[in-house]
Amino acid sequence: MGILSEQEGDPVAVENAAGRSRILLVCEHASRVLPERLGTLGLSAEALESHIAWDPGALAVSRMMAKSLDATLIYQRFSRLAYDCNRPPESPGAMPETSEIYPVPGNADLSEAARLERAEALYFPFRDRIASLVRQRIAEGRAPILVTVHSFTPVYFGRERPVEIGILHDADSRLADLVLESAGRSALYATRRNEPYGPEDGVTHTLQVHGLANGLLNVMIEVRNDLIRDDTSQGVMADYLTGLLLESVPPSQAY
Ligand SMILES: [Zn+2]
Repeated sequence: MGILSEQEGDPVAVENAAGRSRILLVCEHASRVLPERLGTLGLSAEALESHIAWDPGALAVSRMMAKSLDATLIYQRFSRLAYDCNRPPESPGAMPETSEIYPVPGNADLSEAARLERAEALYFPFRDRIASLVRQRIAEGRAPILVTVHSFTPVYFGRERPVEIGILHDADSRLADLVLESAGRSALYATRRNEPYGPEDGVTHTLQVHGLANGLLNVMIEVRNDLIRDDTSQGVMADYLTGLLLESVPPSQAY
């Protein structure tokens, strides 16, 4: 028996599968739900609701963007504490023993078999679903533009973070450069390149596996989560990011 029960269903959610936009939205840290079989991983209710379990607001913003762009959205239905889908199975961060200031007892000293079980339940289906959609769209002559959407905590290790929006990229900065240019013109938010994280923190896994490997335009967007706490602010941010992307994507590739 795997990690997920039959009732828990498919770990991968695909919304607006027939979306016409070339933009493909991915949200790895959409959910704070743990597979029932993992219990609480030894964490308090407070920790399980915090940013260590998920990216608060990221799914809501992604959904609004998917709607206004008419884009397909793929997201993981379970918490990154069970498996962080923006990390490869060999990374310690895939099943972190400590997340920021919280030790995660249920992730301590996992056996190889237990790690593999989690990867098989949560990571491989997620990775493979994105890969097959990318393959299919390339075959149809409309190579996707990969955009991953995340949120980050305003206070990290007790330090306030002044950056409001991070535009992240790995070796291929084509799209990130355009998005940063566009953000610079509006100057609405404190926007920075590869902050508060960058490729050196291992956060560009999805971009590498699906974007760089296929030569796709790609970017990762990080939004400070205090800016997307409710419906209204999520809507404002989604509109802003949608505008940035539409300005940045080469017109010939918009649809
Ligand atoms: Zn994230």
